[in-house]
Amino acid sequence: MEKFIPIQENIFCELCKECGERPVIEQVKGKFIVRCPKSKSHYQTKPGLVDIKDWNIKNKPHPPLGSKDTSKKKAS
Ligand SMILES: [Zn+2]
Repeated sequence: MEKFIPIQENIFCELCKECGERPVIEQVKGKFIVRCPKSKSHYQTKPGLVDIKDWNIKNKPHPPLGSKDTSKKKAS
């Protein structure tokens, strides 16, 4: 069974952009992965130190590509 370490409440972290879960820490062979508790296919950081910063960057909500471009419309 996968065993997760919860991240302290006072530490800010983005929620999983796939499902909205708060990330957890998984320990694998002495290394740490910040990941979504729901699924391995959701974003997870590389094994190493606890890298919540990386998680936050990757899970930051951002507008879909192209939505900021309002001036140019494709004329066909
Ligand atoms: Zn998720």
